[in-house]
Amino acid sequence: METIDLRSDTVTHPTAAMREAMANAIVGDDVYGEDPTVNQLEQESAEVFGKEAGLFVASGTQGNLISLMTHCQRGEEIIIGDQAHIFKYEQGGSASLGGIMPHTIPVQPDGTLAFDDVEHAIRGDNYHFPRTRLVAIENTQGTLGGLPLSPEYMQDLADLTHKHDLAFHVDGARIFNASTHFKVPVADMVKGADSVTFCLSKGLCAPVGSVIVGSKAFIAEARRVRKVLGGGMRQAGVLAAPGLIALHEMSKRLQTDHDNAAYLAESLSEVPGVNVMSQATNFVFFLLEEDAKLSPTEFIEAMQSHNVILSPYPGFERKFRCVMHYWIDRDRIDTVVKSMKVVLS
Ligand SMILES: *Cc1c(COP(=O)(O)O)cnc(C)c1O
Repeated sequence: METIDLRSDTVTHPTAAMREAMANAIVGDDVYGEDPTVNQLEQESAEVFGKEAGLFVASGTQGNLISLMTHCQRGEEIIIGDQAHIFKYEQGGSASLGGIMPHTIPVQPDGTLAFDDVEHAIRGDNYHFPRTRLVAIENTQGTLGGLPLSPEYMQDLADLTHKHDLAFHVDGARIFNASTHFKVPVADMVKGADSVTFCLSKGLCAPVGSVIVGSKAFIAEARRVRKVLGGGMRQAGVLAAPGLIALHEMSKRLQTDHDNAAYLAESLSEVPGVNVMSQATNFVFFLLEEDAKLSPTEFIEAMQSHNVILSPYPGFERKFRCVMHYWIDRDRIDTVVKSMKVVLS
């Protein structure tokens, strides 16, 4: 029996079409700007997002770091949610490598930053203070449950940011899930953004890579920063080729994952000892209750013997996250739920 891995949409393998595209990709030296497939991915990403230019990067973490280092000088400050991936899960790279200070404000239960909090965090002109340079938002908001932030909210936050002459960065690792949720093109989700990073390698199934989009001038500078961080790749067309399939085809099928997440959440409510906490976009969070038949460790092992891979959410003992993606269909969800009932009954 095949393994069913529910831990994340980062575990997705490339599809058969992607592997074929990789084998046939036309390539060149991308540091010279001569890889036609990378150039195509960058151009078409920019078009899809309604921006002038794009830059192919190795990962979402690299894309965020490059974006922040392009917007900010050393000693400048960014306003960022205290639950943001950039703050929690990127090793503080913007501080350690970019000399950029994070000024955190609370992420609200709906995944947004409160406008009051943002305005209060903006520094005045005083030489005791670092200069505020940028506001960053994450959409969908991952740690709180894959919460999609509406296009109206995104525009209002962009307007507020620009009113104060700050730059606005969107960590859009899963922006296509937000766009699918609101049935609004991604370009309309990020109209007010000065830069956006999105991941090709999560629910979109590409094996590697993210893209930054923004103005021509911004991307030209970002290209320099990518190089100094060791991110200048050569015949990267073999990676951009599956990225094109991710961008154009896989981005259009995410409603299936959202429907499957709702289906899983509903099915889990029948499992003894399991309490569904939330479901949004392609994420389901559940709690293994104190009085469940198995401890968290026993539960994980028992599920593993049924070939289902689960892991507790980082920092929590009893909280589990299940992420839906291309490789998890209804049959597999049924198998998971059946196995859970067996091990927990
Ligand atoms: C995964 C993720 C990233 C980073 O992407 P990597 O490719 O894993 O470096 C950034 N932001 C969010 C919200 C993510 O979920």
